[in-house]
Amino acid sequence: MSVEKFSYANTSQAGIQCSLKGVRGEILSFIKDPFLYEEKECVDHYDDGLIVIKAGRIEAVGDYARLVKNYPDIEIEEYKNSVIMPGFVDCHLHYVQSPMIGSPGDTLLNWLNRYTFPTEAKFKDKQFADETARMFFRQLLRNGTTTANIFATTFPESVDAIFEESERYNALTICGKVLQDRNLPDNLKDRSAENSVVESEGLLRKWHGKGRRLYAVAPRFAPTSSRLQLKLAGELYQAYVGKGVYMHTHLDEAYNEIEWVKELYPEATDYTDVYARYGLVGRRSVFAHCCLMEEREWDVLYDAGCGVVHCPSSNLFLGDGEFKFWEAKERLRPCKTGIGTDVGGGTNFSVFRQLGDAYKVGMLKDRYLSPERSLYLATRGGAEVLGLDDRIGSIFPGYDADLVVLDLKPTEFLEWRLKFAEDIFAKLFVMQTTGVENLVRATYIAGEKVFQNG
Ligand SMILES: [Zn+2]
Repeated sequence: MSVEKFSYANTSQAGIQCSLKGVRGEILSFIKDPFLYEEKECVDHYDDGLIVIKAGRIEAVGDYARLVKNYPDIEIEEYKNSVIMPGFVDCHLHYVQSPMIGSPGDTLLNWLNRYTFPTEAKFKDKQFADETARMFFRQLLRNGTTTANIFATTFPESVDAIFEESERYNALTICGKVLQDRNLPDNLKDRSAENSVVESEGLLRKWHGKGRRLYAVAPRFAPTSSRLQLKLAGELYQAYVGKGVYMHTHLDEAYNEIEWVKELYPEATDYTDVYARYGLVGRRSVFAHCCLMEEREWDVLYDAGCGVVHCPSSNLFLGDGEFKFWEAKERLRPCKTGIGTDVGGGTNFSVFRQLGDAYKVGMLKDRYLSPERSLYLATRGGAEVLGLDDRIGSIFPGYDADLVVLDLKPTEFLEWRLKFAEDIFAKLFVMQTTGVENLVRATYIAGEKVFQNG
């Protein structure tokens, strides 16, 4: 029987200083984008590798036998029958929907009204927010997610709760107060557009750049914000984007949503244009879903340097459109693309399992998503979406030591099945497709093991 253990990070000076350590095993990471370059050129792979970690960062990575000579006294943790990858990056999910994940969908808009809004209203209670944040973070870690771009809800308490929990694990986390001042129940609505943005700026000043916490200006989506709120949100974003603040929202997810946006904003060329008019389209803007995009919209996002997020489990569950990764990564204007679980529209917390769904979404349209490309989206691709690809998403000297160790013998059946897989990509493809639980043996955040299974 497996035993899961979670540990908060030791971020005391002493803890950080004595952290020279090694992690040994098969290692796989990406150094370039396989949508744009030959897949072989993009992969960094060691059958028996060593990652040397110092003060939370990767000091060196390479072949074990060669590298270990330079570190004769290093303490090494070894993982057999496993593969070590960069921690997964979840570019879009809602922690406040953890209590209602797996509720019957119907359509996006009905699902929001019936399940989501009543649940989110509970987050005015800090204790409830704390309890959910604690449970939520454990799900991230046991699924190997080390960086997440998270939606909270209207109440500042909901943002404090998730950042406080993130701080305990020293996790790189992006979040922000959700801005929503119309077309939703009164108990979840912002008091006024002005007040909502004042509250948002207060939280931004409190949290942005505090350790590994980063802030996002986060209108839920165009239909639940007034023009004034989008305008003020755009001004806030523009004032702080130079300091690394994000804008995070939803775009072109479902047909009835897009029709609604057309009714609410008849002056806009399309859905993307609504956000662009208010200064919300920029180099640190992240748009979830983007299933039903016009070519013009892709061009706008590419030109502005925005990131887009494929949330296949959620799109399948709610019956929205499908994200066309071949359009997003069109060679002439490749948009930065990552993966989102979109919990609770998505039905599980695993970025890795999203890849199995992403593959099926592609096949419905006769498009093949190779294991190399999908694993890239889950790691370095996500880091690019968040503009953090110089820090996370690869196992490379100087990068933060955020790692996941995947078990290559998670079940009796898979141990047997993987004997017939020709290489590491074939193995990982089998695992993403069969959707096994308990896949993660360990998760490291900034060099510290915060989760262990077994
Ligand atoms: Zn969402």
